[in-house]
This record gives sequence, C-alpha cells and structure tokens, in this order.
Amino acid sequence: MTQHFIVIGNPIAHSKSPEIHQVFAAQAGIDISYQRQYCPDDTASFGAVVEAFFNGGGVGANVTVPFKQLAYALCESKGGLSEHARVAGAVNTLLLKSDESQKDHLQKINALYGDNTDGQGLVNHIISLGWPLAQARVAIIGAGGAARGVILPLIQAGIGQLTIANRTLNKAEVLVEELSAASDAINKHAIETCATTELTGQFDLIINATSIGLSDDTLPIADDLNCHYAYDMMYGRALPFLQHFAARGAQTSDGYGMLIGQAALSFERWTAHTIDVVKATEILKQASK
Ligand code: NDP
Repeated sequence: MTQHFIVIGNPIAHSKSPEIHQVFAAQAGIDISYQRQYCPDDTASFGAVVEAFFNGGGVGANVTVPFKQLAYALCESKGGLSEHARVAGAVNTLLLKSDESQKDHLQKINALYGDNTDGQGLVNHIISLGWPLAQARVAIIGAGGAARGVILPLIQAGIGQLTIANRTLNKAEVLVEELSAASDAINKHAIETCATTELTGQFDLIINATSIGLSDDTLPIADDLNCHYAYDMMYGRALPFLQHFAARGAQTSDGYGMLIGQAALSFERWTAHTIDVVKATEILKQASK
C-alpha cells in the first residue's frame, strides 16, 4: 500500500525532498508518494493544509520555510513536541502519534507530534565525515533558526566548548538565554558570545549558520581565526567561507549532507526503516550530475 508524505513550504518548487525520500523508499523497499505542497503564508492556511493531509490518511509531513515556527505552535497547542523541537522552537517533521493522555479514542490516535531533525542531521553528517566532536572547541557563526536548532544536538554529542558569533551580538546573547531556559543540558555560563568580527583564535570546528550565502555579501573573517574543520550549512553554490579555510589547510564540507541527514531522520521517524545515508547521498549526487 502506498504511504503518503508531503513537504509544506512557500516557495516550494525548489524543494529536493521528493527526490531524496524516493531514494530512501527504494532503499527501504516500500512504496511512497511524496509531494511538494504549496501553502499560503498564514496561520489558518497552514493549519488547514496539515489537517486535510492527516485526515486524508497522510503518514508524515516535512515543514520548511516559512512554516517551521507555525508548525511548532500547532504541535504545542494540539499535540506534542520532541525535546529537539521544543528547544529549537521549530518543527520540520510532523507525524501522528497516539496520545494516551486523551480519553477520547480518536484524539488518542490523532495527536499531532512535531520533531526537529535538522540539528541531529548536521551532527550525524559531521560524524559520518569522521570529524571528532568529543570535547571539540566549536564556534557557530549565526544566531538564527538554523543555529538554534543545532546547539542542543551538538552539546549532546559531547562538544567541549561553544562560542556563538553573530553580526548582531544581542541576538546571540538572547539565543543563549533562551536555550539555557529551555534545556537543563544547556548552561549559559559555558557558552561564549561575540560579534562575528570579534571571533578570533583556534577552534576545532567552525560552522557557518548564517544566510549570507544567499546574498552577495562576504562574511568578515578575522585573520587570526583558524580551525581544523569548517562546515557551511549552505549547499549548491561556491562558498567563500569554505574556500577561505580550505586555503588554510582545514577540511571542509557544505550542508548537503545535513540536508540528507535531516531527511533520513524524518523518514526513520515515519516508517521505522533505518537509512544508509552515505549510500543514499552517493545515489543522489550521481543523479544530479
Ligand atoms: P535566519 O534568517 O534565521 O538567520 C540568519 C542568520 O544569518 C542571522 O544570524 C543573521 O545575522 C546572519 N546573517 C544574515 N546576513 C548576514 C550578513 N550579511 N552578514 C553576517 N551575518 C548575516 O536563517 P536560518 O538560520 O534559518 O538559515 C541560515 C542558513 O542555514 C541558510 O543559509 C539556510 O539555507 C541554511 N540551512 C541549511 C540546512 C541544511 O539542511 N543544510 C537546514 C537549515 C538551514 P543577524 O542576526 O545579525 O541578522
């Protein structure tokens, strides 16, 4: 029997999720339909799309820009949230989960549940690259939604030291306050913050979590900023951030593996099939040549 999935976004035509999930389905040996679902950018429309999809027998939905926070609010009010979604304040994966606290039978099987697999997708990709995370000195540049989502998974992966640098310093400071209020695992006194221009010194890993790659701007990088590993969450274009550190001898990676990694975790939540992400990535890279 075909299982139905969607990715909800606006815009959505560019989404690679349908192709990625078909590769996963072939690997798992199951039959799926995975469609791009455009949605007008308002709360009522998003709620209606989600309700219609799951009432129609849909198994799982991915949520992308600009709906991750709306999906979080919907799950918070109508269902449940994973720890990663709660701390990230954003949901990228929706499914139905039985809620034993509900007396009514239909409510019991229909509770909407939101997860956020972005951060763990990044961590899994870094691990698959063989980059060590235990006790690593890590700097994240950026303090938006993507940075917020990766901090708890990185801490849970055992990093030793974390600095968050952002163009607008105050946003990094607020982020650290909010995260430490949301999770006992996050100690605000153990996280340093600074302006991006002030980020200096030696790190094991530096992650670019800014959206600068979408513009023609260049990230200011101090001359005495160095790392062994540089990761840019962007993918699909030349990335000056990675070129800078590669020229200084660092190993580098763009965020394509994070994209596949977060998708694989969504697929696993929905279908209970474990995906060989390295094999799936090879197939997808071949197909895009
Ligand atoms: P947000 O809009 O939430 O945050 C943007 C961040 O970038 C802010 O910290 C902002 O700083 C900073 N920034 C933007 N422009 C500049 C600039 N010109 N100079 C310096 N800093 C700048 O975006 P997201 O966090 O949602 O996304 C960030 C990136 O991560 C995007 O490129 C996105 O594509 C990528 N991403 C990749 C994923 C993957 O699977 N590979 C998954 C999720 C995201 P300030 O606060 O000062 O405005």
